[in-house]
Amino acid sequence: MEKCRVFFISNGNGIPVDITPSTSFHDVFSVINEQLMLTHSINEYVVLTPKVHEFDDSKIIDFVGDFKDMEFHVVEKSEHEIIQHFLDTTYPSVKFASFSYSAIAISLLSKLNYMHLLANAAANPDDLPIILSMIPYDSFENAHGTELLEAVLKWFSKDFFKRFTIPKCSHCGTDMSEDSPKAPTKSERLNGAYSVSRFLCNKCGAHNRFVRYHSVPTLLEKCVGESTEFVVAFAAIINSLGFPFRIVSLLSKDYFWLEAWCDDQNRYVHIDPYEGCIDLPFNKKFEQARWFVGVGPYECADITYKYVPDYHQVYNERSRTMNNEIFKSLIEFRGQMWGSMSQPDSVAVADRLKCDYEYHQKKIAK
Ligand SMILES: [Zn+2]
Repeated sequence: MEKCRVFFISNGNGIPVDITPSTSFHDVFSVINEQLMLTHSINEYVVLTPKVHEFDDSKIIDFVGDFKDMEFHVVEKSEHEIIQHFLDTTYPSVKFASFSYSAIAISLLSKLNYMHLLANAAANPDDLPIILSMIPYDSFENAHGTELLEAVLKWFSKDFFKRFTIPKCSHCGTDMSEDSPKAPTKSERLNGAYSVSRFLCNKCGAHNRFVRYHSVPTLLEKCVGESTEFVVAFAAIINSLGFPFRIVSLLSKDYFWLEAWCDDQNRYVHIDPYEGCIDLPFNKKFEQARWFVGVGPYECADITYKYVPDYHQVYNERSRTMNNEIFKSLIEFRGQMWGSMSQPDSVAVADRLKCDYEYHQKKIAK
């Protein structure tokens, strides 16, 4: 074997690395730490193989086995200890297998952390003046509550934010295909970039790049993206108008939308800014999905009951898997952790969760 491609993943970001039989975990660290934006020193991280491992001189090839495109999760040692402790105390019965469960747990938490990062980027109070200066308030002046959301969504999806499409080659006009992502440059990073999607022309070999941002001022200036960029920019705008929000995604796919809390309805209303639709939670594309989570700056909840046509069937299916218990309690665990951070309005957060849940239970019972 000459070369083998594996992936190193941290908080929703994955970096492909080509390894040879002599590549060690230590060798790889310097390649991935910049791209995954690991801010601590090498001794403060571990890698899950899925067994927990230091970034030492062990050869990666010894852990790859027969798996092509194997994924290695990179996590801070302290975070891993918390999760391990949580699994050991909550699930003593799975202790014998906890290495593989800790990899499952890390990949779930990595998704939740990423959604939390997006929610916090959208709710950053430092960006409020810029956001407020960019919204055409006059055109919404008579609308309130859900009507206001509808008006803002119409403006946002039709006139303001544009979908990113894979470009054609600027040299020969051929369709390009997606290549592996790269790290942003220093100046791009100063503007809030976190990754660069790259596209390759299969005919002439030219490259094209699309810089991905989380920073709201930059997003509102560029006005282009995929569902991630749409959701952060839109969440920031409705947050500036006083709507509490949470970002929603499936555990199995990187597609994001959101929910806004509407006082006039006493519930969270589904909004997909990428599709430009509101209050249409059921999407046929995600029929097979079994987990939907909502993550706001101060909340994290399993909200699958809102997004599947037959929730009893889904819950039954889920209860037959071991992942079910781990996912359920890790989502609750994160919800408690982030909920406890919201000092000024923790009651409001808990109230919103309860009202929204009750609204849907009534709906399901009908
Ligand atoms: Zn070309």
